[in-house]
Amino acid sequence: MENFSIAIDGPSSAGKSTIAKKVASQLGLVYLDTGAMYRSLTYAAIQRNISLEDEAALLELLNGGTISFQSAEGMQRIFWDSEEVTDAIRQTDVTQQVSLVSSHAAVRTEMVRRQRAFTEAGGIVMDGRDIGTVVMPHAPLKIFLVAEVTERARRRYQESIDKGMDVSLEEITEDLIRRDHYDSNRKASPLKKAEDAIEIDSTYLSIDEVVEKVLHLAKGKMSIMNNSF
Ligand code: C5P
Repeated sequence: MENFSIAIDGPSSAGKSTIAKKVASQLGLVYLDTGAMYRSLTYAAIQRNISLEDEAALLELLNGGTISFQSAEGMQRIFWDSEEVTDAIRQTDVTQQVSLVSSHAAVRTEMVRRQRAFTEAGGIVMDGRDIGTVVMPHAPLKIFLVAEVTERARRRYQESIDKGMDVSLEEITEDLIRRDHYDSNRKASPLKKAEDAIEIDSTYLSIDEVVEKVLHLAKGKMSIMNNSF
């Protein structure tokens, strides 16, 4: 089913992108990291000293810029116009400010327009905060991936240390709590579980166990869809 789509939403560092990438690769679907799009705009705005409170200026910047993805050797590289921003968008300054940028309704409208363009051909696994509620409300499978904050912070801390970043567990925990609160309480399409999403708690599960669960659910939905034609 090469046009099957999966929406994966949930709070920060619940493992959405790791799971989405693996599921997409196993099912032969395209993977789109929508958080990377908001991060790229945040990075581009910081570089140009544009105020992150200024919705009109952010929209102008976004309208004049292209965000693109290139997949190579299992890795996804991200570009703002011709500049590669893959690593830069994961830096602490971007992570701390991206929720402010993503809270602007006009920015979200344009991002959602671009994300929907990727869905036109079908066959996509997309992760974010509003995929099941706004971007792909008709996706046949919606997952809401959660994990306890202490476990999410531990994972994010380990990842950051492995990348050689200078961070503390306290800082990371505070950032996760602050970002979840901001993302869940903004006016424009807040982080919310879609009514028909299936919640998976990954606190005590390995990556492979979560991937298996999602693949099982996807195959179940695909067989129902095949039988109904
Ligand atoms: O998924 P990631 O942590 O990279 O997302 C970074 C930020 O981008 C989130 O904290 C959220 O503010 C924003 N975001 C969003 N809607 C999405 C994806 C990400 O608002 N679909």
